This record gives sequence, structure tokens and C-alpha cells, in this order.
Amino acid sequence: MHKKLFIPGPTEVREEILKAQAQWMIGHRTKEFGELNKRVVEKTKQVLATKNYVFWYTSSGTGCMEGALRNVVTGKVLHTVNGAFSDRWFKISKACGKQAESLAVEWGKAVKPEMVDAELAKGGYQALTITQNETSTGVRNPIEEIAQLVRSKYPDVLILVDAVSSLMGDWFDIDGLGLDVVVASSQKAVALPPGLAVAIVSQRALDKCRTVRDRGYYFDYDAMLKRYEKDFQTPTTPAISLFWALDAELDAILREGMQNRYQRHLEMAQFTRDWASRYFKVFPEPGYESVTLTTVSNTRGISVKDLNGELGKRGMQISNGYGDLKEKTFRIAHMGDLTMTDMKEVTGAIADILKL
Ligand code: PMP
Repeated sequence: MHKKLFIPGPTEVREEILKAQAQWMIGHRTKEFGELNKRVVEKTKQVLATKNYVFWYTSSGTGCMEGALRNVVTGKVLHTVNGAFSDRWFKISKACGKQAESLAVEWGKAVKPEMVDAELAKGGYQALTITQNETSTGVRNPIEEIAQLVRSKYPDVLILVDAVSSLMGDWFDIDGLGLDVVVASSQKAVALPPGLAVAIVSQRALDKCRTVRDRGYYFDYDAMLKRYEKDFQTPTTPAISLFWALDAELDAILREGMQNRYQRHLEMAQFTRDWASRYFKVFPEPGYESVTLTTVSNTRGISVKDLNGELGKRGMQISNGYGDLKEKTFRIAHMGDLTMTDMKEVTGAIADILKL
């Protein structure tokens, strides 16, 4: 049975996009694949209004998080940590032998520019990581304010951003904010199946990468660019079916218009938050709620597991809380190609099941 996914990844994929994958296979060393990849890269730049380099990898987002560290981080790196995924980047950093420091903030609270300022002021930092949308808590960290602070007071510090669960749903100005590497996965607000991840890389991040001798192999930005310049193919075998799906989805995003898509996400977020505060409580610190998912505090002590079981019978699925927040919170995603009609349907079904 098809269950419509209101979980923060993988999110619901439209049938048209699923079907776009079902074509006879082509070789990845063909002109045809090079053209497909070129189209995808150019459309991504157009959607995101960026002039930075765009590299789509056959990987999940975590690969691109590790890749960003390997490509550009050689000195001390500050990881802002306010949830499971920001903590993962810190752990990856340590696993890669980086000089990793963490700035820990309580789960559910946002990282604020003054906190970053206080830490960077200690000196010696080469890079900073920010999880723009912390999927474990539903917090949207204020990337705009943090980036403005860093760009004005610490211009040499590279800014690496995890936008895994927000890119192409939420909006922020990658070039205007001077972000050096932004990474995201296909199975979230891009509304594709899992399997692709993107790194959006500034010129100075690319220049830096070229000086790093042990930058690794699979995610090497310079190697990717060299291959693009040759024939727009990828150094290793790509998930060709997913590139077809991506090509079709980017067309759909361009037809909708990225700003309209963002407005749709804002509207769904506002609706879901209003609903959550009517019957429960919104978990994140007010003013810092995610645009792509709403984390709800389980103030009524319901069984989230049972609720999801009942929703399943009606062809829908939401997400339990993450880690220690399991049963204490639950998460309703509103990302990708979901609509207001979908959000009314899922919240209506929850209200009906719980007799709210
Ligand atoms: N960062 C964030 C904010 C995420 O939500 C996730 C996935 N839930 C990841 C990183 C990891 O991405 P992936 O599962 O695609 O490796």
C-alpha cells in the first residue's frame, strides 16, 4: 500500500518523477550522459540563483558532509552543534582527523550569531560548520545572521553549510551570504528518491581544495570540475536513473518558480505550526522553526507509535521524535512537492484519530 510520506526524508516523490527513472540504461561515458549532467548542473544554478560550482554526487548527504571537510578544512574547525545531524558533522570531522571544536547548544534552541562570535573571537579558526535546518529538532538556524557576522568580522573563515533537509524548499542566498560549501541530499526538499547529494562550492573553496594534498578521491572537487570541463561526465559511475528524475524535477521547480516554491513551504509550515500549537506545542525555540518540518512536543502524552500505526491504515506516515526525543516529540514534514491539501489531510487525520 502506498503511504504518503510526511517524514523528513525520504519525502514523498511524485509518480511522474518515479516514472522519469524508468528508461533504458545508457552508458555514463556517452555524450548523452554528459548532456544530461550539464542540464542538471545548469538548472540547479538557475534554481538556486548561484554562480558557484555545482557538483551532484552519487551519494547520500553524509558523503558530501565528509567531502566538504576533506576538500577544504586543513586547520581548526568550529562545529555548531544543536542536534543529531550537526553533531554528526562534528563526529565526521574527528573521524577524519581534523582539529574539531564544538559549540554545543541545547537541542531545540538555535545557534545565534553572538555565540559563534564569542567562539570565533578566540582565534585560529579556519572553518565553521552550520546545520541550516536541524532535522532532529526542527530548528532553523539563522544562517543569514551567522553568515553576515562571519563575513564581516572573520572574512577568512570558510563557511560550510548543511542544507540537507532544506535546499530547494527553504530559501537563503548562497552567493549573497558568501557561503563556501553548501551540501544537500536528493531525498528531502528536492523531492527525489535517495541516492544523490549536491555540493555547491565557492571559488575560494575550490582554490583552497587545490592546495590540499590529502583531500581524498571520491569527493575531490577539482577532479569533478576537470571532468566537467572535459565532457561533463563524472569521475565515477553515476546513478543515471536518478539524474533523469532530477532533470524532470528541476524542470518542475523552474516551472513553479523557486520563490513560489519557498512561499508554498512557508505557507505549509505556518499552517502546521498553527495546528500544532492549537493541540500540542511547537518544540523549537519560537522564531527559529524550520520551514520544511514541524517538530511537535507531545504535551498530551499520546503514543506516537500507535498514532503512526493508525495513520498508516489511512495511507500516511509521519515521523517519531529523533533519538532521545522519541515519543516526547513527533515530526511532520512539509517539504518537497507536498501541498496545503496534503497538510490539511494529514493534520485532519491526526485530529480524527486522536479525537482532538
Ligand atoms: N544532515 C541533516 C540535517 C539531515 O537531516 C540528514 C538526514 N536526515 C543528514 C544530514 C544526513 O543525510 P543523508 O541521510 O542523506 O546522508
